[in-house]
Amino acid sequence: MKKAEVAELYRLLADRTPEPETELESVNDFTLLVAVVLSAQATDASVNIATRELFKTVNTPRAMLDYGEERLRDTIKTIGLFNTKAKNVILLSRILVEQFDGEVPRDRDLLMALPGVGRKTANVVMNTAFGAETFAVDTHVFRVSNRTGLAPGKNPLDVELKLDAVTPPPYRRDAHHLLILHGRYVCKARVPECWRCVIADICRYKPKTPPPGTVAKAKGRPLARPPSPVRSKRSVRT
Ligand code: SF4
Repeated sequence: MKKAEVAELYRLLADRTPEPETELESVNDFTLLVAVVLSAQATDASVNIATRELFKTVNTPRAMLDYGEERLRDTIKTIGLFNTKAKNVILLSRILVEQFDGEVPRDRDLLMALPGVGRKTANVVMNTAFGAETFAVDTHVFRVSNRTGLAPGKNPLDVELKLDAVTPPPYRRDAHHLLILHGRYVCKARVPECWRCVIADICRYKPKTPPPGTVAKAKGRPLARPPSPVRSKRSVRT
C-alpha cells in the first residue's frame, strides 16, 4: 500500500472515531493490566461484567493479594481459562508488590516477565496506560491489517513490525484502537461489512461483501480470509 493510501486509510478511520479508546473497563494502570490479562481469548464485555464490582475495591496489587486466589477465581469464573488467569493475576500482583513498589512497569521486557503477560498485553498496557506508540496485534488488528493490505503478515509479530514501519506520526498512538474497533464492528471475521466501510476504496480485499439483500448475487464467490495467527491452544500469554 502506498504511503498516501496508508495516511488516507488512517484519516478516514480517525474521522469516524476521533477519540478511540479501549472498551475494557479499568480504574488505574494496575486494573488495566489485570483486565488485559483476563481478556486473553475472551471478550471485553465478559471481562467487564466480571471485574466491574471487583475493581471498585480491589484495585491495587496489595489489595489483590489480600483478596486472594480463591475469591478471585470465583469472581472471574465466567471468563474462559479463569483458573490459570486467577493464578497469574495473584502471581503478578506479588511481583509488583515485591519488586516494583506496587507500580506497573513501563518497560516492555519487564511487563513481559510478569505471569500471563505476553507481547500483545504489554503493548496494550504501554499504549493505553502510558501513551506509548506500540502496536498491539490481536485477532481484529491482525485481520484488518491483512485484508486491507495495510500490514500483511503471517503472524502477529510480523504484522506489528509492519504497522510500526508504515504508520505515520499523527496516528501512531491511536492506530491500535482504530484498527481494533474497525475490525470488531465493521470488518468482522465471518462477513466483513464492506458496503458500509469508510475505507472500502483503499482496501485490497476482494471480493467486497455486497449490501444485505444482494448477497445471493455474490453466491459462489469465496470470501478471502487472512491466515490464522499461530498460537498454542493452552497459552494465555497474549
Ligand atoms: S472493505 Fe471490507 S474487507 Fe476491506 S476493511 Fe472494509 S470491511 Fe474490511
